[in-house]
This record gives sequence, structure tokens and C-alpha cells, in this order.
Amino acid sequence: MHTPVPEYLQEVVDGLEDNRDGNVADYIPDLAAADPERFGLALATVGGRVHAAGDAGLEFSIQSVSKPFIYAAALVDRGFDRVLGSVGVEPSGEAFDELSLEADSHRPKNPMINAGAITTHQLLLGDDATCSERIARSVDFLSELAGRRLVIDESVMRSELDTADRNLALAHVLRNYQVFSSDAHEAVEGYTAQCSVLVTVEDLAVMGATLAGGGVQPITGRRVIPTDVARQTLSVMAAAGMYDAAGTWFSEIGIPAKSGVSGGMVGVLPGQVGIGVFSPRLDKHGNSVRGVEACRRLSTDMNLHLMGFD
Ligand code: GLN
Repeated sequence: MHTPVPEYLQEVVDGLEDNRDGNVADYIPDLAAADPERFGLALATVGGRVHAAGDAGLEFSIQSVSKPFIYAAALVDRGFDRVLGSVGVEPSGEAFDELSLEADSHRPKNPMINAGAITTHQLLLGDDATCSERIARSVDFLSELAGRRLVIDESVMRSELDTADRNLALAHVLRNYQVFSSDAHEAVEGYTAQCSVLVTVEDLAVMGATLAGGGVQPITGRRVIPTDVARQTLSVMAAAGMYDAAGTWFSEIGIPAKSGVSGGMVGVLPGQVGIGVFSPRLDKHGNSVRGVEACRRLSTDMNLHLMGFD
């Protein structure tokens, strides 16, 4: 590829701008109000170079893109045995808000679906941590990965909580099966706060590049995540990051990734780059339409497919 990276990213954005397929999430007013035309794309290398095109500075709520990073935080806080004892690593093949529990253990199948992510949030710090301590841990950890201070969008958080019946139902079932013992409302409040943290595509690219670099934040140079935790997180993203489209995604595009309902996406090519994308229109799986297509172009043009041979 000979085009300089910033021009190339702009070309990708320009080429997909006319794609108006899909629909903006409308289950809360804050997301329904998103401008569907917005589109940002960023690339961060493990060496700390960051390039962006389109709406690079626009902030949006991280939503489910937080899930792999909070999974990494839980692994750091509690270790593999404790986390794997509560949340599995099998793709569910079902929608993100499905109650996918393993038959005997009742563990949620993986940390990328809501049942698993609510449980993962409860693992942060320790059994005796309070709801606000876990929220602070989430915001601090995501901020360390981004290399700047991130904040919660209180309005998104409030309206999510007003309509959180399904997540509350999941939390009650998880508690019933003793997957965790904390209060169901607090569990959903903590998870919702984690989903309401504001980020830009550049933040997501840098956070992805931290995983790509085995856990070293490429700008600050700080080791935020141990290599075994980075490997585990990327493995789960590869298996289950794109909801019920995870198998199609990995075979076609071939990079570990995670999407969220606001239209954000992070993609990670181990050893090389993190990709951040934002475009609010979603396909039927809940993945950003332009986000998926942008990653498809990057994967093809730059030979990013992990199983590629050329
Ligand atoms: N806050 C959202 C929810 O749990 C996040 C879901 C998502 O991004 N898919 O419903």
C-alpha cells in the first residue's frame, strides 16, 4: 500500500459515506438522537502513531465496546481461575441480550454478551467492593487504556437505567443461580455506567493498540495489561466479539473485534494496530454497518486477516 495512511483512511471514509443501510439504535432517546451521517475512523500503531479521518474528535458512549476491556480489568483484579469460574469463553451464537448460560454451571457463556458482561463487572476489585468503587475502577481502567481522562455521559446512563428491564432480569437470574451475590440493581447500575463512558474513535484505536501491543499503552508506554490477559481478551473477542455474527466476521475479516450499540467498534491486529470506527447505523446483529465495511476494506487492502497467507 503506497498511499500515505491519513489519505488512505480518508479514502475509506469517502468510499463508504453513501452507504446508508441499517438503523440507529432507538431504545433510548440519547442514542435515537445520534446523527446517522457521522462517521469516524482511526488507526493506532503499537509504536504510538495515531491517524484518523472523518469525525475523529466526536464523542459517543462506548457501550458494549467496553466489555473486552472490563474483562481484562477483571482478569487483572481477580486472576484467571476466579474469572473463568464465573464466566465462560464459548461463543453463544445468540443476540447480545440473550440469557445464554451454560447448562450445568449456569455461567454466562462469554463476557461479550450482556449476561457475561454484567457478571464481569461484578468481579472487579473484590467481593466486598461497592458499586461506586467498581464504577470508578471501570472509568480509571478505560482512561488508562485511552491515555486521557474519560467521563461518564450521565444522561445516557440515566436513560439506559430507566429502560434496563431486560438487563435487570438477567441480573436477577444470575443472582438466583449464585453466579454473583451482589444486589441486582447495583450490578446493572455498574455495568450501565461502564457502557456510558464517552470515547472517540482515536481513543478506541489507542485502546485497541494497547491490546495489539500485548498490554502496553502505545502513547504513555505504560504496561496496563499483562500479556497473558491481553491474549485471553483478544481470544474471546475473536470468538464472540461480534455477537451472533462472530463466525462470519472472523472468516471474512479475520481480526478480533468488538462492536457496540451506539455504532462504535474496535478492531485489533496483534503486534500491529488498533482500529476505532464510529457510525451509528446498525445491521440486524447490532453491528455498525459502515464500521463492518470499513474493517473489511482495511483487512483486504492491508492484508490484515489473521489467517491470511499473503
Ligand atoms: N448498554 C447496552 C445494553 O446493555 C449495551 C449493549 C450493546 O452495546 N450491545 O443494553
